Amino acid sequence: MKKIGVLTSGGDSPGMNACLRAVVRTAVHHNIEVLGFLRGYEGVIDNKYNILTTTSVSGIIQRGGTILKTARSERFRTDEGVKTAAKNLKELKLDGLVIIGGDGSFRGAIELSKHYNIPIVGCAGTIDNDLVGTDFTIGYDTAINTVVEALDKIRDTAESHDRVFVIEVMGRDAGLIALRSAIASGAEGLLVPELKRDVNSLLDKIKNWRTSKSSKIVVVAEGDESGGAYKVADLIKANCPEFDIRVTVLGHIQRGGNPTCMERVNASLLGYNAVTALLGGHKNEMIGIIDKKIIYTPFEKAVKHIEELNPDLVKMMEVLSS
Ligand code: ATP
Repeated sequence: MKKIGVLTSGGDSPGMNACLRAVVRTAVHHNIEVLGFLRGYEGVIDNKYNILTTTSVSGIIQRGGTILKTARSERFRTDEGVKTAAKNLKELKLDGLVIIGGDGSFRGAIELSKHYNIPIVGCAGTIDNDLVGTDFTIGYDTAINTVVEALDKIRDTAESHDRVFVIEVMGRDAGLIALRSAIASGAEGLLVPELKRDVNSLLDKIKNWRTSKSSKIVVVAEGDESGGAYKVADLIKANCPEFDIRVTVLGHIQRGGNPTCMERVNASLLGYNAVTALLGGHKNEMIGIIDKKIIYTPFEKAVKHIEELNPDLVKMMEVLSS
């Protein structure tokens, strides 16, 4: 193996740089040249890349975002875009490709491999933690810690004014950020796409809140069927007009920031193992960590939507928030 490519794709997530650094330094250790494509699949289509060395990835382990930049490439969703990318990779004579991204990025990898049989391995880089085959994805730990920090601050105001706060967190399809951060911040309510009829349960529950005049926090995943924090706030107001309700949409602060220690170590492990996986003949698989062991999951399986949240955590949340 002489030359590999690497790219970051989809939404940026803290820890992508730590993963990239590990990919580059492991490859260099094995005398493999590394081409870093810029702006995800856009860079592959446009043949825009930098040759990455040990020094190119100096001083980035602690930085959020991605020095390679990333993109949601509409062109790569077209047949023409994938064919151009495949042609470029063939001409560059790459022996392998490491993709750091989320489920969409791995769907893209599946399409790419239909046109060019280059060994591809993936490192799950998304704050959503919504991939099958790994206990965590790069960015998730930092994101939930960012959310919890914000919720703690909001709690101070909620308590001081006896207010109800409805907080919207990221998660278009998955409620994992919402669930963990709700538990960790002692939230009183949780609305996530995986749990149906949770709005009805919340409305039942808030009737009891009338008797206790104190702060309440409801965490809503953006993809919940209730339609988001503003709609939930309207619903609560309609049922309990006496409540002083405020809404906060946390938005993009959830993506950035310095990765946590756990994030940096796990992202490094994934990047390191991505290169050793390519050297070991793996292809079209995502590298994950389950119970502290490195696990290889075919892309087709990794991108399957996780329909269910951990029932033990959901039950515990119900009990502890009652
Ligand atoms: P995040 O979890 O942060 O959203 P992601 O990798 O899921 O990350 P997407 O925008 O869904 O982010 O996907 C990244 C890119 O992968 C897309 O912009 C597109 O270029 C490519 N992609 C996604 N789905 C497909 C597909 N079905 N076919 C080809 N390319 C795809």
